[in-house]
Amino acid sequence: MKVLVFGQIREGNIEENTLGVINKLTSVTGITEIESALLGADVSNELIEELGKHGVNKVYTVKAPELEVYLSRPYVKSILEVIEISEPSLVMAAGTVYGEDLIPRLAVHHGVSCAQRITDLTIEGDEFHFHTPVRDDQAMKVYKIEGAIKFSTSRSGAFFVNENPSGSLPDIETVDISFSEEDKLVKHIEIKKAERTVNLKDAKVIVAGGRGVGGKEQFQIIRDLAKLLGGEIGATRACTDVNWIEETYEIGQTGQSVSPDLYIAAGISGAPQHLSGVKAKTLIAINKDEGAAIFNYADYGIVGDLHAILPILKQKLQG
Ligand SMILES: Cc1cc2nc3c(=O)[nH]c(=O)nc-3n(C[C@H](O)[C@H](O)[C@H](O)COP(=O)(O)OP(=O)(O)OC[C@H]3O[C@@H](n4cnc5c(N)ncnc54)[C@H](O)[C@@H]3O)c2cc1C
Repeated sequence: MKVLVFGQIREGNIEENTLGVINKLTSVTGITEIESALLGADVSNELIEELGKHGVNKVYTVKAPELEVYLSRPYVKSILEVIEISEPSLVMAAGTVYGEDLIPRLAVHHGVSCAQRITDLTIEGDEFHFHTPVRDDQAMKVYKIEGAIKFSTSRSGAFFVNENPSGSLPDIETVDISFSEEDKLVKHIEIKKAERTVNLKDAKVIVAGGRGVGGKEQFQIIRDLAKLLGGEIGATRACTDVNWIEETYEIGQTGQSVSPDLYIAAGISGAPQHLSGVKAKTLIAINKDEGAAIFNYADYGIVGDLHAILPILKQKLQG
């Protein structure tokens, strides 16, 4: 079966999660061809080679000034055209902001549903089976979807990039698209970079909060402690997913990897996806459940309510 992957470009390179999706597809028994749609004002040979190296057999390039940055209408129009030519069984994009905008639009155009944020893909007989964690990752939903062509996004960070790819130069087909005035209704003006980017990698002290913190406002105690200790704050995905704290503070498999001298984990259960990003000299865990997995990794553990313990710690630090 053939899969078409949206070749998302980020800052001049193929976006990392996109390479992860391609790597995953190369390992799924039953997938015989991987093709990619690469769009931009210009598309360099390096990007095409990169896709080939990671296992893409054919790249469709669409070049136009209207495709300089991601905008729904021109991108949807272009990829619908590529789908017509490629005739894939499945169209996939990494679960980035753009991938999650694009795929449902393509699916709606084809009158079908789509599988969002999958963490695994299998083929049973001639059917794709999509795997998506549900109920706060405590259960896995496995399902199939209708339609001659299936549409899916991956969950961000679900698939690893092959660090030693050995594929060859892919076939290339240029696709010409003309855009109407209607396609250009939304115009890109500029991208303003955030003034402060969080670099947790170099932090010596991190006070990290998990779902046990209980809410956005309650995160203040984590901020206060981090400040008093001259460190940074961190969080689990359970917190960033519900916007208690910005995504840039997420630590773990899909977040940042950190190696501080001191890591205080408050209200964090100790999921492998979180701990895979933590290499601390000293880890102190605070959790009200004495059976929490985090205690197996902690150098020091405090069993109790973090909202009772952290204020005492704060008071002591304030002298
Ligand atoms: C593909 C994939 C990638 C992932 N990537 C990441 C990632 O990069 N980073 C990440 O963090 N997660 C990631 N996850 C999610 C991960 O599996 C866990 O769901 C998540 O880490 C759990 O976060 P948590 O520990 O905050 O929440 P929970 O697991 O719900 O734990 C909350 C803990 O708080 C304790 N608690 C509750 N109230 C209090 C209180 N008042 N005082 C003290 N303790 C309290 C509870 O006993 C519990 O142990 C990923 C999952 C998948 C499938």
